[in-house]
Amino acid sequence: MSQESTSSSQPTPICNAEWPAWPIHDESEEAAVLEVLRTGKWWFGDRVGKFEAEYAAFQGSKYAVTCTNGTTAIEMLLRALGVVEGDEVIVPCYSFIATASAVVTIGAIPVFADICPDTLCIDPEDVEAKITSRTKAIVPVHVAGLIADMDRINEIAAKHDIIVMEDAAHAWGSQLDGRGAGTLSRAGTFSFQETKNITAGEGGIMVTDDSEIADLCRSFTHCGRAPNSAWYDHAFLGSNLRITEFQAAILSVQLQRLEQQIAVREKNAQLINEILGDLPGLQLPPESPRMTRRSYHMYILRLNPELVDVRERMIESINAAGVPVSAGWYRPLFRNEVFQKAHIGPAHGIRSPLADKGVNYTDVECPVCEQVCKDVIWIPQTVLLGSESDVTSAAKVIHHVIQQEQVASRG
Ligand SMILES: *Cc1c(COP(=O)(O)O)cnc(C)c1O
Repeated sequence: MSQESTSSSQPTPICNAEWPAWPIHDESEEAAVLEVLRTGKWWFGDRVGKFEAEYAAFQGSKYAVTCTNGTTAIEMLLRALGVVEGDEVIVPCYSFIATASAVVTIGAIPVFADICPDTLCIDPEDVEAKITSRTKAIVPVHVAGLIADMDRINEIAAKHDIIVMEDAAHAWGSQLDGRGAGTLSRAGTFSFQETKNITAGEGGIMVTDDSEIADLCRSFTHCGRAPNSAWYDHAFLGSNLRITEFQAAILSVQLQRLEQQIAVREKNAQLINEILGDLPGLQLPPESPRMTRRSYHMYILRLNPELVDVRERMIESINAAGVPVSAGWYRPLFRNEVFQKAHIGPAHGIRSPLADKGVNYTDVECPVCEQVCKDVIWIPQTVLLGSESDVTSAAKVIHHVIQQEQVASRG
């Protein structure tokens, strides 16, 4: 097809899809919640343990410990792994704030590494460049469910005697060579908040094969009680991060839907790849043949550099045509005030443990992430659950809007 034949004034096609309302639920969740309600046993029943066993089996780990959310899961796991005040922890700058804020909360110092331009996950070479004598841990994030380069990260970590834990908050069910996300290092964490692919409104979990780490996490969630200790015996520093039987009951039902939903998302992602594949200069999510399952928390595409300035307008057009896409994370994590002002302390608000750590984030350089924050479009997981014809129609809308702008940018 000749590009010249496309008039820049062609109207955008309309997508009339009704995207699945999220979360998806039916009488199974209703029955599960009602059952808990009627037992009158809203904590310390069978359901939390049952869900933990189910999730561990699903992800392929020996142990799993639930907690209040994905943020507290990272905090408790860092503590259980022995990260302490003043340690440096290398995190990607392209993530949700929790990956970095959890490090700050426990008194450690986040060090930001750049990301790879194709996977959008942490760049192992930049990780290695940022290792110092104070580096204690690395926290890769499997962005959008694509597994980070764990071979290389584990290799670097082994060489420098550093711990690796995965923030797998986008990667429920994702697998590399048949091994689940969160099991590709010492331990991993997941989130079950409402926009995530499996949810109870809020919730989190950690998985590991190491019983000692699992026990420490359990103690931490349970007010610092040692395993099998008496109720008012508190052996360790802890908090209360327990979830309720209601949440666990919902999560068990949600987990039963997950495998089939992932299959739908994977198929629809392929469909979008096919439809957008002929647009020049666009970067689609990379193939990952070693991934035996891929959760696709979203589908992230990168626009050609010349389209960066019109991204906002494109997103508005695509939204107006019935497809709810977004810009996603629009700034690298270290560009947030919490880090940019860490060396002077905030003028108001809650004092950060970073305030007395002698850090300065104003000169951090992560050029790939800066560019990615400007040039990506996120297609959310709910669109990826649409019917084949709805997803086709959505991809055609996106194709049309990008193509019109590409033609316009060429003059
Ligand atoms: C959602 C998310 C978290 C935090 O999970 P919450 O349950 O919202 O606290 C952590 N990391 C990443 C990458 C996330 O997307």
